[in-house]
Amino acid sequence: MQTEIIIIGAGLAGARAAESLAAKGHSSLIVEARDRIGGRGYTRGFAEQAPLLELGGSWITPWHTRMQAACTRHRIELLPTVPVQSRHWHDGSALRTDGPVASADRVDYDRVIATIVSDAKRLKQGFDRDLAGAPLLSVSLQEYVDRHRVARSTLAQLMAWWTISGAGDPKTVSAGEFLASCGYIDGTPEGMMGALTHTLKPGVSMLAERMIAASGAKLQLSFPVARVEQSADGVKVIARDGRHLAAKAAIVALPFNILGDIDFAGALSASQQQSAQRGHDGRAVKLWLRLKGVPQGHLVTGGLGPLQWLFTPYAPDNGTILAVAFGLDDGSWHPNRRADVAAGLAAIAPQAELIGWDWHDWCGDPFARGTWLSTPAHGADLSSGTWARAGRLSFATSDIAPDGAGWFEGAMASGEQAADTVSAMLSQ
Ligand SMILES: Cc1cc2nc3c(=O)[nH]c(=O)nc-3n(C[C@H](O)[C@H](O)[C@H](O)COP(=O)(O)OP(=O)(O)OC[C@H]3O[C@@H](n4cnc5c(N)ncnc54)[C@H](O)[C@@H]3O)c2cc1C
Repeated sequence: MQTEIIIIGAGLAGARAAESLAAKGHSSLIVEARDRIGGRGYTRGFAEQAPLLELGGSWITPWHTRMQAACTRHRIELLPTVPVQSRHWHDGSALRTDGPVASADRVDYDRVIATIVSDAKRLKQGFDRDLAGAPLLSVSLQEYVDRHRVARSTLAQLMAWWTISGAGDPKTVSAGEFLASCGYIDGTPEGMMGALTHTLKPGVSMLAERMIAASGAKLQLSFPVARVEQSADGVKVIARDGRHLAAKAAIVALPFNILGDIDFAGALSASQQQSAQRGHDGRAVKLWLRLKGVPQGHLVTGGLGPLQWLFTPYAPDNGTILAVAFGLDDGSWHPNRRADVAAGLAAIAPQAELIGWDWHDWCGDPFARGTWLSTPAHGADLSSGTWARAGRLSFATSDIAPDGAGWFEGAMASGEQAADTVSAMLSQ
């Protein structure tokens, strides 16, 4: 029997598409470039040993209901994030324990935070301009901080939260990525912490595996797609080595930054082509560090160095503790170089001894080419409407999600939407 639908990509978007198609009575085959499932959800042991950690995404929020439901369906436990128990800030000159900035800079800090709270709330209410009429979305973070004449010590705190929100070059990524994240809870940058409430046990990779197994979809790993052709009655999906598969339709569940690598044989519209070539600018670096000398629940932000955000979510084990840290892949340092990681750590946690570290290079990864959605301030259309369909193809990925874009939740939402689109197309 001919496969009805090929799903290209076995991340959460592809896995959710497979589940949704099965629920509608369609058969599907998933093809995946890597030899593993999960994509940017990637659970593996620290330094290939224990314990299991999330090298890609990890947190879900209280409003990520699709993820919560999937965890319940597939017997994945939700672990609450430990509360912050000790707090340090680096103001760009010195590490502080008394507050985000020195008293001389407090007025600037409070003024900027009040502006951010106002702008984040306006954005959440659907306005794309601030109270004075200045744009909030079609402006980069750099333009935004220049507009508000942000002092260096205040900037150190904003940039720390940027590494887990906009997470790209502040000169190109929209300030809206940062403001939207501030708006999750109370409008402040630090409010984002209150959104990161749970992680998955045993992990995101296992959730994706269980979703695909339960869907009954066939799965072909190590099948890197290079070209997708369409005819009047079907699609042909061709791997880099020439192997090919046929179906009535396909769901392209690839990271947005990979679309430009695929030859769609002329099927994309001009705006889709332009948008795929531009891509998104997500360039975060996430590291796991094994440390001595830091307590559980310790949060440090700031520094403007390689590591700008650090948190210790787990209890110590045999005298060491694991810390998750974020920085930006901006060419000024490299996470493979011990000296760079040690220097970054020494700035924000000088009391810590670095035992080891682990990470995955998502920007260099040929099947990701970036981290999570970071919308360019100027000239890219990543809207789910633009990417609804191209002939017999429908598109799914968190990067272009109708809801929860950039998050696992967005991957799930986009997988559901693509399944609806393809199912409706086949029933016509
Ligand atoms: C470091 C990091 C931290 C993050 N933190 C969080 C977080 O805390 N919470 C959260 O919700 N989200 C987080 N995210 C984002 C989240 O991981 C992604 O939004 C989500 O996993 C994307 O799912 P997807 O299915 O859209 O894409 P992917 O997971 O990227 O899946 C796409 C699949 O397509 C495959 N593929 C690529 N090219 C080809 C090809 N040519 N042929 C066939 N297959 C191909 C890939 O191998 C992959 O399996 C983070 C991401 C990163 C990288």
